[in-house]
Amino acid sequence: MSLPIEILKEKLLAEKALLEQELNHIGKKMDTESSDWIIGTEGGGDHADIQENADEVIDFQQRIALLEPLEQQYQDVLDALDKIDAGTYGICEKTGDAIPEERLMANPSARTCAHC
Ligand SMILES: [Zn+2]
Repeated sequence: MSLPIEILKEKLLAEKALLEQELNHIGKKMDTESSDWIIGTEGGGDHADIQENADEVIDFQQRIALLEPLEQQYQDVLDALDKIDAGTYGICEKTGDAIPEERLMANPSARTCAHC
């Protein structure tokens, strides 16, 4: 098996940068060591206006809904990069079979082969 690792790694790094941009837009990183994002509370909840607080809650939930899939995707990308370093990249997490190159080129952070 000879995957075009350099190309796949470039794709993953590009995806990582894009996801970081989006994640930073919606939330903020817990700390530099962590890959967890949290939703920033703008204004610190100092609003006296009740209606404004209600709007803030809705916005908060919407942002969590946006953040979660992005965070999952980001984790997949990080794991894929780790696997490249560990030499276990391109192996299905369920069956241990090789994931077809075609699938990896379309989705470099895929964890499983198409039929899993
Ligand atoms: Zn599989």
